[in-house]
Amino acid sequence: MATYSINLKDGSIERPGEIIVGIDLGTTNSLVALIKDGKPVCVRDQDGRSSLVPSIIHFAEDQSVLVGGAAREKLVTDPSRTIFSVKRLMGKSYLDVAGHTQFFGYKIIDDDTESLVKIRVDDKFYTPIELSALILRELKQRVENELNTTVSKAVITVPAYFNDNQRQATRDAGKLAGLDVLRIVNEPTAAALAYNPSEAGTIAVYDLGGGTFDISILQIQDGIYEVLSTNGDTFLGGDDFDQVIILKWLSDLGLQQSSLEENKEFSQQIRLEAEKAKKTLSGADTYSCVLNGQLLQISRQQFDELIKPLVNRTLACCANAVKDAGIDIKDIKTVVMAGGSTRVPLVKHSVSAFFGQPVFDSIDPDEVVALGAAIQADVLAGNQQDVLLLDITPLSLGIETVGGLMDVIIPRNSKVPSKAGRQYTTSVDGQKNLKIAVYQGERDLVEHNRKLGEFILRDIPAMPAGLPKIDIQFILNADGILTVRARELRSGLETQVEIRPTYGITEEQMALMLLDSIQNAQTDMAARGLLEARNEAQNLILSGEKFLKQHDSILSQEEKDTTSAMIASLRQIAAGTDKDAIHKQIEALNEYTTPLAHRAMDVTIGSAMKGQRIAE
Ligand code: ADP
Ligand code: MG
Repeated sequence: MATYSINLKDGSIERPGEIIVGIDLGTTNSLVALIKDGKPVCVRDQDGRSSLVPSIIHFAEDQSVLVGGAAREKLVTDPSRTIFSVKRLMGKSYLDVAGHTQFFGYKIIDDDTESLVKIRVDDKFYTPIELSALILRELKQRVENELNTTVSKAVITVPAYFNDNQRQATRDAGKLAGLDVLRIVNEPTAAALAYNPSEAGTIAVYDLGGGTFDISILQIQDGIYEVLSTNGDTFLGGDDFDQVIILKWLSDLGLQQSSLEENKEFSQQIRLEAEKAKKTLSGADTYSCVLNGQLLQISRQQFDELIKPLVNRTLACCANAVKDAGIDIKDIKTVVMAGGSTRVPLVKHSVSAFFGQPVFDSIDPDEVVALGAAIQADVLAGNQQDVLLLDITPLSLGIETVGGLMDVIIPRNSKVPSKAGRQYTTSVDGQKNLKIAVYQGERDLVEHNRKLGEFILRDIPAMPAGLPKIDIQFILNADGILTVRARELRSGLETQVEIRPTYGITEEQMALMLLDSIQNAQTDMAARGLLEARNEAQNLILSGEKFLKQHDSILSQEEKDTTSAMIASLRQIAAGTDKDAIHKQIEALNEYTTPLAHRAMDVTIGSAMKGQRIAE
């Protein structure tokens, strides 16, 4: 028999041992990672050297497509057919990117509308989704080659600021690449997961990539990763560092910036050389090279001077993020570095000085996001029993209503912490005590769910059935502790208890309950329909009898006899199991008594006929 595990976060069911990969689909570089021997690792190229796949695509004239390192080389020789920074265009309309199109070396279709951007290569048009799918397919292939098996499920990361369109576009790209995207995870959250703090606290993730800068402040507590604030600059990154080097060299050579536009090949050559210089300066004090027979040089000190204003701009974003998070900068426990550009020593020093502590950079900043995505993937695969990202509640929480029905107040998958409530009433005249039984589970009948506890709201002032207004609030805090509060609104009477929903329930039990509810959905629905019909009949019988008693004087004998007979018949039918017959008789009785009720002009009967009642 096959065994299944359930992802407690979203209730999805996974086969054990299934490979789910984590993907960092970056603006500049993309990576794929997975768990190997219990540890997250990035998949490397065939030489085992680099885990980075440049997010670059080249379309050759003969229709062949190159992705990654090979496409990168075409930036110099064939720029108009070489697509980079696709991520910037994901989910964007032409209007969104207007004013930035000169940034791209390739052609972005200019139709001046709200419609989504397309990229033109020769007479073919590509959407950013299709292009991203090509990168994802390359990553998929890379991991499949390594594992010698097919991989079809993935977790993909996106910047925390990505909107719905952009997230959906990322999902679609995954689908197009033949990947079932189980989860879209925020990049800073993934970085925080990879860092895996041993204790709760507030952390900052400083992510400086090739073209974008993101700073996020997260609160981590009991496996809950909450993004408190994000800030950044979508046009600031390592590319700008390259740019300042290029400008310096042009000036050294006595050349104008326009010389770059005149000579595309030279422009790309000097760009690649500048990037090489920048990377070298992360470890060395000087860099020199010869380009077109001319010597180009730059020292670390010169470089630092040039990029200082750019680095300061990132710090201004950090200050805003700290402010928006509503925390004191001293509250930040750790500053996690992500993105290749955080290798620049000046960046490290400046960030460290800003936050008043050494930065955390012991995980490769290129890989940290992908590694976190792999951890998330492993959690979804059900392989990490000790990690539980309990930021949503795995099972529904509710109370028992008349007929043993489960009335869900906080549905499964609700965000934690969470608060929800509903109003109920009594079902018996003069009812003084009300029992509130709290259950957890997905089945329609409480008897199939798990009882968490019950309490009694006592000494409700005597009122006719249906009149008391009992407000029941479920407050689920971040620790997974449920507080149930019941209050009779007319008298202000209040009572509350605390319940721990996951206490004493194993993951297997939880999985079984979920599987059960899926298997029994059909029978449950039928049972629920019958019970609801019976409840409705019972209510109508009670209010009908009450009506006969209260309005004896205004009814004719024939009206009284007919009503009584119809009530008796409804009672008899409701004892059976024919839901439709019950509904039919309810309808008949309602139809007959409505004009009588109108005549009686009594509104209380109306209110007594409505509303849900809690079991006595
Ligand atoms: P993205 O998240 O945008 O895909 P990455 O995190 O991969 O980007 O960062 C790419 C950037 O990091 C590039 O600008 C690259 O030049 C820069 N980078 C990579 N290694 C180094 C290094 N050793 N020193 C300085 N910058 C580096
Ligand atoms: Mg990145």
